[in-house]
Parts: sequence; structure tokens; C-alpha cells
Amino acid sequence: MPETYDVLIIGGGPGGYACALRAAQLGLKAAVVEKRPTLGGTCLNVGCIPSKALLDSSERFAEIKKLAKHGINVGNVSLDLARMLARKNQIVEDLTKGVAFLFRKNKVTLIPGTAKLLGRGKVQVVADGQTNSVEAKSIVLATGSEPISLPGMPLDGEHVVSSTEALSFEKVPEHLIVVGGGYIGLELGSVWLRLGSKVTVLEFLPRILPQTDTEIVGLVHKSLMKQGMLFHLDTKVTAIERRDGKVRVMAQSRGGDVAFDGDKVLMAVGRRPATASLGLEEAGIRVDAKTGRVAVDKDYQTSVAGVYAIGDLIDGPMLAHKAQNEGEVLAERLAGKQAFVNYQAIPSVVYLWPEVASVGQTEEQLKDAGRKYKVGKFPFQPLGRAKCLDESEGLVKILADAQTDRLLGVHIFGPRASDMIAEAVAVMEYSGSAEDLARICHGHPSLSEAVGEAARHAAFGAPLHA
Ligand code: FAD
Ligand code: NAD
Repeated sequence: MPETYDVLIIGGGPGGYACALRAAQLGLKAAVVEKRPTLGGTCLNVGCIPSKALLDSSERFAEIKKLAKHGINVGNVSLDLARMLARKNQIVEDLTKGVAFLFRKNKVTLIPGTAKLLGRGKVQVVADGQTNSVEAKSIVLATGSEPISLPGMPLDGEHVVSSTEALSFEKVPEHLIVVGGGYIGLELGSVWLRLGSKVTVLEFLPRILPQTDTEIVGLVHKSLMKQGMLFHLDTKVTAIERRDGKVRVMAQSRGGDVAFDGDKVLMAVGRRPATASLGLEEAGIRVDAKTGRVAVDKDYQTSVAGVYAIGDLIDGPMLAHKAQNEGEVLAERLAGKQAFVNYQAIPSVVYLWPEVASVGQTEEQLKDAGRKYKVGKFPFQPLGRAKCLDESEGLVKILADAQTDRLLGVHIFGPRASDMIAEAVAVMEYSGSAEDLARICHGHPSLSEAVGEAARHAAFGAPLHA
């Protein structure tokens, strides 16, 4: 007799593992099928965590060169890339083992192997050439996403690579050509730029970071150019040739045909849902014809009763915390509780230096929706803490409803914006106003004073220090 679970989750990433842990905490018998040797999915193995480890290390490498200004002379600074990569790998190992520990602690069963849907309530698992079947009352698809490339330009893992290989280059590329000026292109481009590569970003659109507020993007673009990143916008890559261990990227730009010679191409033009091995069609599960994402209703149920989907696999931003939130909420609903994800208050962070963090709507989205809004802004430059840190680049921008003052969007380009956005998320979660944010007492001296000042600007027409 095959084992029967209350909930069987396919995929042990932030969506799947969060769903399993919460389900187990609520007394459900939960199991996860995972084909990778370690838990944590894209995020812990080849995504958020290794990229942030390298961003933090490379940031220190770049920073140390600026210490003379503080009266600290450090002499010759050199890079030990192998050690930097080993540190990154150790962090990944610690965190993936941490998830395995939490599985044991919460009595979640890990089933190693590749899963495919069979009939209702049944999943086939193939591992080491052995095929087994597992039964469950509810099945959750949480298989995440995988990198894509451009037509006719396949990834080869060596010269034309995805983010996975760009997290482990054994030597600093002389010239890294990045196709796509989104999250991955700019984050991993920043890593290798700081470590000494020439980095050229080729972006199809007339701007980088298409989802981010345009005014903020203008500042980010200038800042990256100042750091030495090269950009070709409005540029369509048409072909890639490999010659003598090097690459040539052919493209069309406004000025005509152009070619770029380099030693690696990082393809960062987006990701697609990982559905290939699931047997969705045979199981009758509907996917969106354009995006390939699994269609779900408001309860995360697919077109087949008892089969659910979460995370990168379904609509919405491909972000780890969104996947985790959905996993937790779905587990609570399967356990008979009320819970929901507030899609209006999901923050996004691009880990450049300074960082870019946003929640809610951009000014363009408000304009397009015909919404009347007011804007409050405050730069980091006059803040005492920013001066002490020697980190005064950037701006906080707050968008609030013109009549009700309700907070509609907060956009921060500044040092540790990833941490500062949290209070804006909290105020939005409680449907708060710009005045609510302005009246919060911010510690002094701190970077978060810029949030308070921008909120005063939006709520009262002027910051205090104006
Ligand atoms: P995944 O994390 O993709 O997990 C899916 C799991 O399912 C995988 O482990 C896979 O092996 C397994 N699987 C797939 N098919 C099967 C099958 N048939 N059987 C068994 N197992 C299967 N997001 C952020 O919020 N912040 C960041 O800083 C950030 N940085 C990123 C950096 C990079 C370089 C990349 C690539 C992504 C980054 N992301 C970041 C995005 C984030 O990693 C994803 O949004 C998140 O991992 C999605 O979680 P998930 O659970 O939906 O899927
Ligand atoms: P992305 O959607 O962020 O950016 C892709 C970029 O490529 C866009 O600017 C797009 O206009 C451009 N592009 C598309 N086709 C192109 C072409 N033919 N030529 C040139 N440019 C082209 O995708 P990504 O950077 O690959 O990252 C994938 C996803 O992973 C992100 O959307 C995000 O959800 C997630 N991620 C998040 C983080 C984070 O939260 N800090 C970090 C990395 C990745």
C-alpha cells in the first residue's frame, strides 16, 4: 500500500518548504518531493542567497578602497576569488542543511526524486532509476522557475551562461557581456564589475529595471554608470558567435548593427515556470498559453480539484518571499484556517549599491490608472547618519492618495533600502497614510529618518528639515 499524506508538495523551494513546515505545525501529515540533492530551491541553492553572499563580499572589496577617506590606510588589497566562492558555498550549505533540520524537527517527510502527476491524488516519484507512487489528499505544485535564453542562442554553461554559472566563475572575466538589464543582470553584473570585470549591459527596452519607478531608475542608472557599468539600451541581441574561447554578440541598436567582443555572456532575460517534468497536460491542468504559468483560482487551486500551485509557477512577481507567503497561506487554508496574501504590499528589492527597494505602485502606474496622487521626497544627502557612513547617494519617494492621504507606493534608492522598506510595508499592510508614516518616531541619527521626512513632505507639504 502506498503511503498517504494530507498534503504532498512537489518542490522544496521557499514556496514548497514553507507550505510543508506550516502544514506540519498545524497537524497535517506533510511530505515534499525534491529532485535536487539539497532543499531550499532556486533561492537557497542558486538564487537569492549565493548572489547576496557574492554581492556582500564584492561590496566589501569595493568599499575597502574608499577607507582612506576615513583615515584608515589598508595598503595593497588583493582578491582571493576561490576563498570568496568557498564562503558563498558554505553559506548555501549551512542554510540548505538548516531547512533539512527544520523538516526533521517538524516531522515533514522528504521524498528525494522527480515527481510527476498521475491520477487524482497520486504522484509518481522517480529516484535512482526506481519508480514509486505516493498518495495525498492535496497535492501542491511548487516547482518554481528556470532560466531562459533567446531563440537560437542556447545556454552552453561555459561561454553563454545563466545566473547559476555566473555565481561560480573560477576567474574574473575580463569582459562580461550581460543581456538584460533586470534584477539578475544588474546584481550579478555589479558583483563582477566590483571584482574587476568590464561589464556591458545590453537591454532591449529604452530603460533598465522595467518594473521600477522611472524617476528612481534614472538615479540607479546614473549611479551604475558612475561605478563603471556600460549600458546599451534599445539594443536587440540577434546572434552570438563563439570564437577561440571568446564570444561575439551581434545586436541591432538605434544607430544600426553593433558587435561586442567579450569572454562570457550572462543571459538574464527572465525565467520561465518549471513545468516540463510534471505531466500537466495529461493531468488536465490548465496553464496560461502566453506565460506558461499554472492557472489557479483565489484559493491557489488549479483546474483539477485537490491540486494546488504556488510560487514562481503561478502569476505574480518571481520572488522568494511571495512564494513563501503563498506557501504559508495555502497550508493554513488546507488546515481549515482563514489566511490571505496581500499582493498590494509585497516588497521588491534589487541588491545594488545603493539598494533599490519598493512597495506598492509606481508613479507611472498611478498615472496610467488616472489616480490623483501626491508625492513626497527626501534625499539621503543631508542626513547626519548618511554623512557619518559616507553613504549619501539616493532618495526616498512616497506616493499617497491626493484626497485620503492613503499610502500607495514607497520607493527607496539608498543604503540598506532592503531593511528600510519594511516600515512602509507595515504601514501599507494596515492601510495607513503618509501622515501615519510621518508621525512614526524614527531613531536619530538613522537612515530611516529619510522615510519620515519624505512622508512629512507628502502629508504636510514639507519635510521638517527643508
Ligand atoms: P524554487 O525556489 O525554484 O523551488 C522549486 C524546487 O522544485 C526546486 O528545488 C526544484 O529542484 C524542484 N523541482 C522542480 N521540478 C521538480 C519535480 N518534477 N520533482 C521534484 N522537484 C522538482 N528572490 C527574492 O525574493 N530575493 C532575491 O534576492 C532573489 N535573488 C535571486 C537571484 C537569482 C540569481 C535568481 C535566479 C533568483 C532570485 N530570486 C530572488 C527569485 C527566487 O529565487 C524565486 O522567486 C524563488 O526561489 C521561488 O520559489 P519557489 O518555491 O516557487 O521555487
Ligand atoms: P527580469 O525580468 O528582471 O529582467 C529581464 C530583462 O531582460 C528586462 O529588463 C527585459 O527588458 C530584458 N530583456 C528581455 N528580452 C531581451 C532581449 N531580447 N535583449 C535584451 N534584453 C532583454 O529577469 P531576470 O533578471 O532574468 O530575473 C528573473 C527573475 O528572478 C526576476 O524577474 C525576479 O523575479 C527574480 N530575481 C529577483 C531578485 C531579487 O529579488 N533581488 C534577484 C534576481 C532575480
